[in-house]
Amino acid sequence: MTDNTGNADARPDLDLEQDLAEAPADGTINEQEMADALAPCGTEGVAIPVGHPAGIPMTGGHPAGVPGGPGGHPAGVDRQRHGGARSVGFRPGGGPEALAYQERTGIKAPRIIAWEITRSCNLSCAHCRAAAEFGHYDGELSMDEIKATVDDIVTISNPIIILTGGEPLMRPDIWDIVDYCHEKGAMPVIGTNATLITDDIAQKMADHKIPRISVSVDFPDAEGHDSFRGEPGCFDQTIRGIKIAKAHGVGVQINMTVTTMNADKVSDVHDLAESLGVDAFHIFMLVPTGRGSDLLEKELPPEEYERVLEWAYHRQKTSPLHFKPTDAPHYYRIIRQLAKKEGKKVTREEYGLDAMTRGCLGGITFCFISHTGDIQPCGYFDMQLGNVKEKPFSEIWTESKVFNELRDYSLLKGKCGACEYKAVCGGCRARALEVTGDYLASEPYCIYEPPGWTGECDSEKE
Ligand code: SF4
Ligand code: SF4
Repeated sequence: MTDNTGNADARPDLDLEQDLAEAPADGTINEQEMADALAPCGTEGVAIPVGHPAGIPMTGGHPAGVPGGPGGHPAGVDRQRHGGARSVGFRPGGGPEALAYQERTGIKAPRIIAWEITRSCNLSCAHCRAAAEFGHYDGELSMDEIKATVDDIVTISNPIIILTGGEPLMRPDIWDIVDYCHEKGAMPVIGTNATLITDDIAQKMADHKIPRISVSVDFPDAEGHDSFRGEPGCFDQTIRGIKIAKAHGVGVQINMTVTTMNADKVSDVHDLAESLGVDAFHIFMLVPTGRGSDLLEKELPPEEYERVLEWAYHRQKTSPLHFKPTDAPHYYRIIRQLAKKEGKKVTREEYGLDAMTRGCLGGITFCFISHTGDIQPCGYFDMQLGNVKEKPFSEIWTESKVFNELRDYSLLKGKCGACEYKAVCGGCRARALEVTGDYLASEPYCIYEPPGWTGECDSEKE
C-alpha cells in the first residue's frame, strides 16, 4: 500500500481526483481521451445502439466461451497503448469555469455528458425495449431549452457532449445544436447508427467539426447483426455509413455490446473494426436495467464476464485500435491484478489513461440527459435526479443527494465498500440499484472478494 498506481497492494484510497488532474496541461485532449469520452459507461445504452434509445440491444442464447482467452497475445510484444498524439485541441471539464466551480463547491465539473437529443429513430429494432421509432416524442427538449441548458452547463464546465438518441441525425436542428455547443465552448460528438450517413451528412459532420462518431456493431457479419437488430440490411447500411464517414475525415469508433449471444464474436468484431480502419473499438458489457431488465438472462455470468475482460486486457496489448471495455468497472481491478502478475505497475507511461481513469464515472465526471431533460448518473441508472426544464443543470449536478453520494466512495457498502479497488473501480452502481434497490450496494457481477470483506450483507451494514 505504498504507491498510487492502484496495484493490488497499492493504497486503497487512490487519489483519482489528483490523478485526473494530471490530464494534459496544454488544454488539449488526445485521441485516447476522445475515445474514452465517446464511451463512458451508460452511453452505449442511449447513444450508440442502432435504433435504440434506452440501450439494451440484445436477445438470444449463450455461446460459451470467450474469444482468445487470457494470454492470447504474442509474448514479449510491448503493450501498445493507443491514441497517442493526435490532438483535437480540447480538454473536457478543463478551463477556468471548471476550476472555479471545483474550488467553490469541492465537486468536480462534468467532463462528459451524454445527451439524448431525440428518441425518434429511423429504425424499429425488434429488440428495442423502448420501442423507439420514427415520429414525434412528447416533451422533447426544444432548441431554446437545449440552448438554455448549454448556456448553464458552460458556466461550470466545457464538457464533451455526446449527442445521442434514438438516432440523433433524425433531429432536423442537429447542426444548430452542434454549432451552439461549439460556440459556447463544449465539444459535441455524435453516437449514431450510421445508417443515415450519406456523403452529404458526412460532409456536414466534417464541416461542423465533429471529430468522431461512435457506431454500434455487435456481430461481424450481416446475418448475426441483422438478426440481432431485427432489421434486414442494417449491417450493410451501417458499414457503408462508417466508410463514408471515414472518407470524409470523420473519426469512427465501433462499439460492441457483449452478451451471451455474441461473447464468442468479440475477436471477430475487433478484427472487422481493424479491417475498416476505424480509430477505436470499445466493448460494452450489457447492463440490463430499467427498460431492459427483462434481458437479464442475456447478461454474461460473472465468471465469463471476468474472462472477457481478461481477454481484453491481453488483446489490447497488440491491437492497433484504441480498445477498451466500458460498463465494466472491475476491468480497472483486473488491469491491476494482471499487471501485478506480470510484475508491472499500472502507470500512465505504460497504461495510458487506463491508469488514471475510474471504472464507474456516473455522477462523478459523467451524466446523462434524456430527451425530455431528465438527468441521470448514466443511461442505465434508472433514476431521475432532476429535470433541466425545472432546474438548471448546474444546480442538479451540485445539489443532488444521489450524485453526492456516488462521489463519496466511503459510502459504498458490502464488498465494494471493503474493496481496495473501490477508488479505481467502484462497481456498477446501476446494476447494484437494479438488483438490490440500493445504488451503494455491492456490484452483483464482480467475482472478487476483497481480503478485508467479512461477507457482511449490505443490509446488515445499514
Ligand atoms: S452505473 Fe457506472 S459502471 Fe454502471 S453503467 Fe452507469 S456509469 Fe457505467
Ligand atoms: S468488489 Fe466492488 S469495488 Fe471491488 S473490484 Fe469488485 S466491483 Fe470493484
